[in-house]
Amino acid sequence: MAVNTNAAGSSPAKIVVLGTGGTIAGRATSAGDNIGYTAGEVGVEQLLGPVAAFQGAGVEFVAEQVAQVDSKDMGFALWQQLARRCAYWLEQADVAGIVITHGTDTLEETAYFLQAVLQPAKPVVLTCAMRPATALVPDGPQNLLDAVVVASTPGAHGVVAVCAGNIHSALDVQKVHSYKVDAFSSGDAGLVGLVEEGQVRQLRPWPNVPEFHVKNRPVAQAVSAQVAIKNRVMSESASEDWPRVEIVLNYAGAGGLVVDALVAQGVRGIVVAGTGNGTLHVDLQAALLRAMEAGVAVVRATRCVFGRVLATPADAIADAQGAFCKTA
Ligand code: ASP
Repeated sequence: MAVNTNAAGSSPAKIVVLGTGGTIAGRATSAGDNIGYTAGEVGVEQLLGPVAAFQGAGVEFVAEQVAQVDSKDMGFALWQQLARRCAYWLEQADVAGIVITHGTDTLEETAYFLQAVLQPAKPVVLTCAMRPATALVPDGPQNLLDAVVVASTPGAHGVVAVCAGNIHSALDVQKVHSYKVDAFSSGDAGLVGLVEEGQVRQLRPWPNVPEFHVKNRPVAQAVSAQVAIKNRVMSESASEDWPRVEIVLNYAGAGGLVVDALVAQGVRGIVVAGTGNGTLHVDLQAALLRAMEAGVAVVRATRCVFGRVLATPADAIADAQGAFCKTA
């Protein structure tokens, strides 16, 4: 894309925009159709065009199409590719930050993954849309512009998501609405900040490494697990070889069938989304304890949209506490 120079004529700050698809790149046959579109059709250069023109001098944009998918189909191979492209661009001295256009459905998972693996000292900003690019009133252009503002903000760092003028930490963001344009929440943690008329109003710190990952174990152990995971993602090893971790749910009438089947298939870890404060049906819990005896790592989270599991001394299965790797 065209290179802009700043007023002083010195090298502009480079913002890299990586396209992965989603509704922001979605196309419908009618401008009035907000749901019957195909995600991941419009190229990232095309999305960026009006934003780059508006943003004006002082910024150089690089657009790269990493993928063109509906994020419901996001997978580990693409995650690996995305993490590697981010790592490459983050290492370039003239890059101020990265923006990633992404579908809303699994945005929070990609955000969490990238924060876990990269823990970037520069901003990596995921953005999205709830209306396709062809809509009468698409939300993507404003979201992309806001994301560029965040990626260009001095001092910004870590992985965040920007949608509807809100800045969410990768560690807290959740899609909580299936249709509204403001579809995301950071729950109890609250927003990192807001984007208002091209300015960031910061409300709390950018995502930070130390508060992450280390709650369940000594810092040194957590850091070495972190490094091992990063090395694995960045290495040549295929994502199909990553240890398989599955998610199961508690609900009225839940049993052990799914857990037993997963163990028989060689699953290495299970995250159980319990009811309430991580409670489990007695039959599901029995199956999970059998899985643990067979060497499968198990942690308990909650299916509640807000809150987290609070541990008690009587717990048979440890709670996740938001940590992504309780056992290596
Ligand atoms: N299914 C779409 C996706 O996640 C939804 C969206 O982007 O809003 O790619």
